[in-house]
Amino acid sequence: MDKKHNNIGHNYLNNNGSVHKNLKTTKKGFYVNYDKAGYRIDHYNTNIFRRLARKVLIKIGIFEPIKNIKKRLMVKYVWKEKVNNLIKKLTKSNLPLFDRISIETFSKCNGGCSFCPVNRFDDPRDDNLMNENLFKNIILNLYDLDYKGQVILSLNNEPFLDKRIYSFAKIVRNYLPEAYISILSNGTPLNVERFKRIIDNVDELIIDNYNDELKWHKNIKAIMEYLADKEIYKDKVKFRMRLENDILDTRAGQANNRGWIKTLDISCLYPFISINIQVNGDISLCCNDALSKEVVGNVSKKSLEDIWYSKKYFDYRNKINSSRKLVSICEGCDTVDIPRGIANV
Ligand code: SF4
Ligand code: SF4
Repeated sequence: MDKKHNNIGHNYLNNNGSVHKNLKTTKKGFYVNYDKAGYRIDHYNTNIFRRLARKVLIKIGIFEPIKNIKKRLMVKYVWKEKVNNLIKKLTKSNLPLFDRISIETFSKCNGGCSFCPVNRFDDPRDDNLMNENLFKNIILNLYDLDYKGQVILSLNNEPFLDKRIYSFAKIVRNYLPEAYISILSNGTPLNVERFKRIIDNVDELIIDNYNDELKWHKNIKAIMEYLADKEIYKDKVKFRMRLENDILDTRAGQANNRGWIKTLDISCLYPFISINIQVNGDISLCCNDALSKEVVGNVSKKSLEDIWYSKKYFDYRNKINSSRKLVSICEGCDTVDIPRGIANV
């Protein structure tokens, strides 16, 4: 079975009947590289010229204004029409079920990323673990739905701080053999032994190495060395070198290192394709809603499909379609994501 995935679902829209179509479109180059064993290594915003340019623009105070203008122009001339057309197609007869579900089994992260509202310095959330029965019920619910989409065992947290993550991945693997299981980690709690414990029960492990000096953390390097003479996991494991202090999206208007933005005149695909579960079972509007400011339902009270097709969810979708201004977290959000899997529908 081909288990490669396009990273953000909507596989049911592939008209060749393939559930997990390989949509690898990124070639080796400026940001993406492959090591000798074939492991993908992304350099996200870390190219020296890009970093220097950003530094200068930040220093003279025009980085954000330029970013905002660029985004508004892209919205106006490129993205708006595409997003509208995709939403029209998705909702034409009946909205298909989500095919990306993210589950946060522990509510904290040990990372210090300045662009993230739940970095360890700013996160107002308590340390909470998802109840094990709740986790199992979610997976049983997906089993009943014959779910074959993507299951991400992380959200706005560091998943390996939850020691149950290994058994949770196994449960998902056993109950949903055709689902595509992903985990995103900042890599700090990982070592070779833990890597070996998790890897056979996931289809994708993305390790984000956050370091402003662009150095690989020792433990991540050890995993890379362990993999150097093994190709078997090359389609599963991706390493990303990333800056801990970076200026990225406003993340539902909650990124502490971003200022005010004029609301973007575009809808958003996330509530039409993905669902996100917090530790207490709350379904937040999108993955950017790290603090659950807009809760659509709770999966301990209603099934996933009932929530997905609930009036409340459609009200949110309709509001975002009319204007981001109608939903408080969307008003200041500059995320525009057109997942590759649906871009050519
Ligand atoms: S971006 Fe990820 S690793 Fe960084 S603080 Fe946020 S949740 Fe943690
Ligand atoms: S506009 Fe932003 S906050 Fe609103 S649903 Fe989309 S990603 Fe989430």
